Amino acid sequence: MISPIIDEILIERLRGLMNSVQHIAITCHKSPDGDALGSSLALCHVLRRLGKDAHVVTPDMAPKALEFIPGVRDITVYTKHEIRARHLLNEAQLIFCLDFNSLRRIDRLGEIIAPLNTKRVLIDHHLYPEDIFDIAISHPEASSTCELVFRVFMQMGLLRFMDRHAASCLYVGMLTDTGGFAYSCENPEFYEIMASIMRRRFDRISLYNKALNTFSAESLRLQGYAISEKMQLYPEQGVALITLSKEELDRFNYNRGDTETLVNKPLAIPGIYWSVFMREDADKIKVSCRSQGDFSVSSICERYFNGGGHENAAGGEFIGTLDEALALFNQVLADLFPNTEQTEESTTE
Ligand code: 5GP
Ligand code: MN
Repeated sequence: MISPIIDEILIERLRGLMNSVQHIAITCHKSPDGDALGSSLALCHVLRRLGKDAHVVTPDMAPKALEFIPGVRDITVYTKHEIRARHLLNEAQLIFCLDFNSLRRIDRLGEIIAPLNTKRVLIDHHLYPEDIFDIAISHPEASSTCELVFRVFMQMGLLRFMDRHAASCLYVGMLTDTGGFAYSCENPEFYEIMASIMRRRFDRISLYNKALNTFSAESLRLQGYAISEKMQLYPEQGVALITLSKEELDRFNYNRGDTETLVNKPLAIPGIYWSVFMREDADKIKVSCRSQGDFSVSSICERYFNGGGHENAAGGEFIGTLDEALALFNQVLADLFPNTEQTEESTTE
């Protein structure tokens, strides 16, 4: 039995709003991942089947590796089609905000949405959402936003409109946000939801392989290089760090998404509880953290790297050079582990 965890009052209000509008925009966080795209596209599919004029508008492009998700090519990307993106958001009578908790996470789209009077509906599983939504369906205990979108469909009686395409989208988000059903999926209801999705008879193995097990040769070589040459271990603290400079990324013809799951890898080493990955992008250092057990990385990313996320998976950014980011990382280590020596043990030594 899948319990109706979403407050029925919110569901009723959402039903009322949806019945009264025709034009709907759906947006999700920048650098969209499988959950952001999967939840947005699943909702879009179902809204269209309900006869609504629904569109997904993202702050920037989906990575090439996620182009297989049904409907991705139909998305309006702000950085590519600014005028159309503005038009869709301005014209919308209702805006869904999926898989993010703060307008900062949608870059310039946030500046467009903030002054609008249009009603905003949040569906999200990040901690501490901003108080700027008319309806906030916020459940940090949920595995993924895709799980919550399924629950919204279920509680609104819309499951019959969830076709094979929508089910595929939800599957991808639930799969990727749990690291391939590895974490954040302790709730038995997760599998009941999965069972319901599976009844839509999509090609599960193909989606699994495309979502988790497809890399270009260069991406695989880059990951091999990163682990072999760049992974530094701090055994006393149970910490691993990988950094990749712009020059190193260029050497492997880096494409967005190529390092997506790299940060998870060091957690395979017994005794490593916190893995950090720093990537030098054009304008910033992107920081990704993963952890095991009750070591919370969202608060670390919030405090030191202008970011946030979940207890065991969080990210942020650092404005400055890679060396400066590294100095800050060493400072964080000293703050968090004051009584241990900050000695690293590179795997190459
Ligand atoms: P990733 O490391 O895969 O980029 O992100 C992991 C988690 O942290 C995701 O849930 C994502 O939403 C969150 N996250 C990543 N980067 C940022 C950021 O710059 N700011 C905030 N607030 N959250 C982030
Ligand atoms: Mn998510």
